[in-house]
Amino acid sequence: MPTHAEYMKVALEAAKQGDLPYGAVLVKDGEIQATAYNTAQRDNDPTAHAEINLLRQQTKALGKYNPEILKGYSLYTTCEPCPMCAAACAWTGVSEIIFGASIADLMSVGQSQISVPCETITSQGFQEIKITSSVLAPECLALFQ
Ligand SMILES: [Zn+2]
Repeated sequence: MPTHAEYMKVALEAAKQGDLPYGAVLVKDGEIQATAYNTAQRDNDPTAHAEINLLRQQTKALGKYNPEILKGYSLYTTCEPCPMCAAACAWTGVSEIIFGASIADLMSVGQSQISVPCETITSQGFQEIKITSSVLAPECLALFQ
């Protein structure tokens, strides 16, 4: 089964297609289900973050409503989810978030961020989300330099 780093490499490739270099991948049972990247500028939508695009793509593809529809899914993202994306993970039932660069890392290279760690959001939710940080963080951050 591929490692966290191998899935993060897929997210890194997706990030290169983004308006800003953020990429994300959804994995279930070891299989990649969807990939997405930031489309904020091309969509004229400041909320079109990689993770939001990814979650919408997958929930739409599943074609039914269930507030825990993504239970059992692992979301890999090149950067720590912002509060909006962390909340979207909670609202869709994602079981696990694995990120590369942290919000603090992004702020250190001049990226505008809302300075709230994703765990602060997910820990207040109604279901448990496992968080793993710093997977290929230097590679994820290097996309901004
Ligand atoms: Zn976000």
